[in-house]
Amino acid sequence: MAKIRSINTENSAEKPLQGGVVLITGGSRGIGKAIAGAFAGLGAAVGICGRDEEKLLLAARELEATGARVLAHRADVTKDSEVRAFVQATEKQLGGITILVNNAGTGGGGFGAVQDKSEEEWDQVMNTNLKSVFFVSRAVIPGMIVRRGGDIINISSLAGKNTFAGGGIYCASKWGLQGLSGCMAEDLRAHGIRVSVICPGSVATEFRGRGPKDPSKVLTPEDVAHAVAMVAIQGPQSFISEVHLRPVAKP
Ligand code: NDP
Repeated sequence: MAKIRSINTENSAEKPLQGGVVLITGGSRGIGKAIAGAFAGLGAAVGICGRDEEKLLLAARELEATGARVLAHRADVTKDSEVRAFVQATEKQLGGITILVNNAGTGGGGFGAVQDKSEEEWDQVMNTNLKSVFFVSRAVIPGMIVRRGGDIINISSLAGKNTFAGGGIYCASKWGLQGLSGCMAEDLRAHGIRVSVICPGSVATEFRGRGPKDPSKVLTPEDVAHAVAMVAIQGPQSFISEVHLRPVAKP
């Protein structure tokens, strides 16, 4: 990742987020893991979750090797009790959460024409991509309000801005996330909490999207992590509310 210059921060330019605590949902692979690496590099402690404990622990070991403080906690973000346990464990072991990244998401079996989709597929995609953001945010926000600040960065998608054949359930989840994020931003501005959305195009990960991806025309997880980190280190008076991120090569 190219070096990010810190601005308007009292911390050292090398580690502008020293002392910060970042909770990232789905940090065991793909975009979430790259985001965790970026924040660890900026000096923050990171809490990551996922359902596959083995992959989660592998990711945690890689992060710890960089010198970062890391908590890896097995949690399914579609289950409120597991979300609450993850948030509590992070606050207890790492400290008050200063940045929340709602990243966990799935295409699941969600792609395809609506008439071919089942209720289970609808629920899986909507619960993972949208309801989880409600669960995690409402568990984290009270602490941020007490501390009078924080950043919530939601990983949406250009599918949250566009429509396309076969995208019904996935697009609905991301359009819903756009609406939820905008309203949360208005709810929380007065408390010094910024809520932003990052909308990437196609990214090279294990995520099962619309079909095979042309490797020369996709973003890397590190590209998305770079954008997230830039949002996190903007000046305290500034509010980047939405980022659209595309590969330079047109798909
Ligand atoms: P991956 O499938 O590579 O990784 C998803 C991560 O989320 C994994 O760590 C996974 O861990 C975790 N996760 C999934 N479901 C749950 C759950 N129920 N509870 C806890 N953790 C969960 O996906 P990406 O990294 O590509 O995607 C990350 C985000 O970026 C998603 O929100 C996606 O919609 C968005 N996005 C992706 C794009 C792409 O082309 N890849 C483009 C635009 C947006 P585990 O399976 O172990 O639970």
